[in-house]
Amino acid sequence: MKPNKFILDVDQTLLNTKAFVEAATADGRSKEACITPDIWNEFRVQDFLYPDVLQWLAEKRKDELEILSAYTPELGPLAKEFQERKVSELRDFVDKITVMTGDKGPYLAEYSDEYNNIFIDDSITHHESALRVAPQVHLLYMDRSTSQGGASIEANAEKLYIPEGITHVRNMADVDRYMEKLGLG
Ligand SMILES: [Mg+2]
Repeated sequence: MKPNKFILDVDQTLLNTKAFVEAATADGRSKEACITPDIWNEFRVQDFLYPDVLQWLAEKRKDELEILSAYTPELGPLAKEFQERKVSELRDFVDKITVMTGDKGPYLAEYSDEYNNIFIDDSITHHESALRVAPQVHLLYMDRSTSQGGASIEANAEKLYIPEGITHVRNMADVDRYMEKLGLG
């Protein structure tokens, strides 16, 4: 059986980025100050991970896990360093970290089909770019809006437009169910 390779987004997939920004701005700090690298001297990424993430990462082998994280150049000259500092806090769990900009599809196209490649990301845009160029990658759209309860996956899927070929998941347990269903778990 082929080994698995999970290719993980960070923001709004593993990390509750909105909760971090809320916490960081709570004492009057500006949003601009929240996106400087030095903010990570005061806050820890691990404190803002979704509740199912740490255990899931720990259950996988390190060589099954990679991070593919996009930074936003429009946020200024420190944007890349800010993102690198952020995702590097997860380095103990993963084999490789890539911080990039633009569409993720071309990066995913580089992955060898000697692995079961599973890409998990909350951005439909990145999935759509992968649909075109990376047919050897399983595409799992992470929708954290229902992870705290609330609407069912079906109800939420009706509100979302998810193109064919992309699977809707709400949490890491859904990822594991997807793997089991395909006999890859
Ligand atoms: Mg994201």
